[in-house]
Amino acid sequence: PKLHYPITLAVEDVHYQYPGSSKEVLVGIDLKLAPGDKIAILGRSGSGKSTLANLIRGDLLATQGKITLNNVETHQFGDTISQYLGVIHQTPYLFHTTLANNLRIGRETAVDNELWSVLERVGLKNLVEKLPDKLETMVDEAGLRFSGGERQRLALARILLQEVPIILLDEPTVGLDPVTEQQLINTFFKELQDKTIIWITHHLQGIEAMDQVVFIEDGELAMQGTPNEL
Ligand code: ATP
Ligand code: MG
Repeated sequence: PKLHYPITLAVEDVHYQYPGSSKEVLVGIDLKLAPGDKIAILGRSGSGKSTLANLIRGDLLATQGKITLNNVETHQFGDTISQYLGVIHQTPYLFHTTLANNLRIGRETAVDNELWSVLERVGLKNLVEKLPDKLETMVDEAGLRFSGGERQRLALARILLQEVPIILLDEPTVGLDPVTEQQLINTFFKELQDKTIIWITHHLQGIEAMDQVVFIEDGELAMQGTPNEL
């Protein structure tokens, strides 16, 4: 499906039960995100946050209810969902190829200048300039030559190249020290100002930057409000 901008994301009465499981993980979730809206989704480990993320991306199909972008159900997009929705996971995928190729997964046609420009925006230009092979540096799948925070910055750089309207962040700062975490959050919000953001997290650091905060508890949205109200 081809969508016209602006794009609104709607989650309507979504239920989900894993096959073989006896209990629903999500029990009637409703959310509506207008273009540029920023929402934080909080909840304890196992509360269903990543399940909701996978439903939004269309990787799982709701057992009841629906999730749509401009009224088209997300599971109908297949891989083309990545034109509209970018995801940054806790452990970003890197490939055993050059740094440039890893970034170009966001947009194959990007020229070197564009790669340098996004590297600068995410604060990695200096680091890459100092590598002997610069953009041609080989990366292994685990991305071990980069720290956790640097890998997240690479994932963000890739997303920036894609210029997608909606970004889903599934605990991208887990495992980082508080200072690195705050720096990364600042970079995310500065660079993604005009995007719709869904930010899944299990703690409160950084949520002041969001318009809306919701908690998932026992599969339901337990609390909903602005960061100041909560
Ligand atoms: P965390 O904060 O630890 O990442 P989460 O809120 O993202 O947790 P989910 O990964 O969505 O939680 O998991 C929600 C529940 O669904 C958990 O009880 C989990 O065990 C269960 N679950 C997750 N994936 C599957 C699966 N593939 N099959 C069966 N149950 C699953
Ligand atoms: Mg999770």
